[in-house]
Amino acid sequence: MMNPFPYSDTNKRYHTYDYYLRHRYGTKCARIPIDAGFSCPNRGPGGEGGCTYCSARGSGDFCADTLLPPQAQFAHEYERLCEKWGKRLPAIPYFQAFSGTFAPIERLREIYEAVSDYRLADGSRAEIPALIIATRPDCLCEEVVAYLSTLAARYDLTVELGLQSAHDATLRRIRRGHDFDTFCRGYRALSEAGIAVCVHVINGLPTEGSTIEDRAQMIETVSRLAALRPAFVKIHALHILRGTQMEQEYLRGEIRLLSMEEYVSIVCEQLTLLPPTTVVCRLTGDGAQDALIAPQWTKNKRAVLASIDRTLAREQRYQGMAFSDAPPTR
Ligand code: SF4
Repeated sequence: MMNPFPYSDTNKRYHTYDYYLRHRYGTKCARIPIDAGFSCPNRGPGGEGGCTYCSARGSGDFCADTLLPPQAQFAHEYERLCEKWGKRLPAIPYFQAFSGTFAPIERLREIYEAVSDYRLADGSRAEIPALIIATRPDCLCEEVVAYLSTLAARYDLTVELGLQSAHDATLRRIRRGHDFDTFCRGYRALSEAGIAVCVHVINGLPTEGSTIEDRAQMIETVSRLAALRPAFVKIHALHILRGTQMEQEYLRGEIRLLSMEEYVSIVCEQLTLLPPTTVVCRLTGDGAQDALIAPQWTKNKRAVLASIDRTLAREQRYQGMAFSDAPPTR
């Protein structure tokens, strides 16, 4: 049967990042995680001690050695990948760890300009068509957004923002340190500056029921997000990582985690709500495997993704089929 979803040439029923890269750049690209030594306001003075699920490396578990300066981290990983592939591919520096706009503007300039101007041994510039910067919605003052818009004029800039849930009670419980309105303000500031946003959502957070019968809040989060028409999204199940505050809650029996079947069912419904143009960068977790306490099923990414594909096909569903094209509400 013909695939009803237009943004796929591999029979997928959702808009994958791989599809986006191939159609945008004509090839796959090397996405290179970098820990540029930022911190996070939610972990420092005045913060809430960090999000309760946050790992010691602030979501930057796959970044290179932080003892190296950002440009050296990029160089090391880029050269390693080029050697592995036997050719030079376009590279996308991904400033993943902590809050990539939480520093004085001069420091941001220094870091982002140095990495994006990376030179090869012959003095020519590496092909860097895009940059990804992860940050928090409350780290986007006017000056920062103005600088980001200058980057967006030169690169395909994506700013990643954690939403996790659109429900303030959940955000308080996980100590996000901001509410949904703050997220919307940050999102709007970036959108108005012409900057693409990738929004993170976590399914199965505490207070959201986490059961197959009681999943309305997770569905509502994506429904509210869809109204903003994000360029990119990342969705994954809650991970309990060693050394996090949430580990203690979990060990005390205060957190019920989603089963794989529940997660797949919820994600398939969420995909139908998203605009078909929204690129789905991730549907499974990407945390450090050795730090993962639970749920263990998330380690088998292939099985999770295959189950999502099978469920969408069986239920004749695809991304965007329930997307309402009403104007954004926020
Ligand atoms: S905003 Fe990110 S880096 Fe900061 S505490 Fe939360 S998860 Fe960690």
